[in-house]
Amino acid sequence: MKNKNITLSPDIYFENVPKTLNMNIRSELYSTNEFTFAVAVILSAQATDKKVNEVTPNLFKIAPTPDKMLELGLDELKKQIKVISFFNNKANNIIKLAMQLKDKNSDDLNYKFPQKYHNRAELMKLAGVGQKTANVIMNVLWNAPNIGVDTHVFRNAHRYGWVDEKDNTPEKVEEKLLKIIPKKYHAIVNHVMVLHGRYTCKALRPDCEHCPVNKWCKKYLI
Ligand code: SF4
Repeated sequence: MKNKNITLSPDIYFENVPKTLNMNIRSELYSTNEFTFAVAVILSAQATDKKVNEVTPNLFKIAPTPDKMLELGLDELKKQIKVISFFNNKANNIIKLAMQLKDKNSDDLNYKFPQKYHNRAELMKLAGVGQKTANVIMNVLWNAPNIGVDTHVFRNAHRYGWVDEKDNTPEKVEEKLLKIIPKKYHAIVNHVMVLHGRYTCKALRPDCEHCPVNKWCKKYLI
């Protein structure tokens, strides 16, 4: 008989779900260095990774560094990314970002953010970098224990009962998740919940039958 008192705790979830994912893939966004990763994350706001990956290989061939992005210029950048939602605004931010990062290393093909940006408050001073974008950058590039709350993390944190209806913003969800998920998992929370949410625990028609935590999940048992 099905036991409806079973709970899908964060411990059970993070012990089991990562085993079924390819954890070597830190992000599905195409990038060539830390600058291009940040640009890809900015482009991915309200757009799918797939759509972003359609334009970035060519864009990053022409403009792989802050200096080269400034050489490309605003108008040409807009042409390159015009199939992405909110491209005007995103292009403005990317050019401002390149200007803010301009320094003696800003034409390095292996561009790395200066150490001072390995800090969320500093990172959020950059154009186009809000809390979610900063979290994803810190999480993926530097394994920082921040939790980027995107649509998958937001939806499924509610679905598993880890947060409630009062947690109605990404910021509130992040705050709650940081409290209830053991610290040892913080660096992988975003990555695991995004992949599981994208391919298994999807918004519509989750694939419960093939889910590694279905025996603990109330949503499956119901
Ligand atoms: S059993 Fe279904 S609802 Fe529950 S975590 Fe898995 S995919 Fe999501």
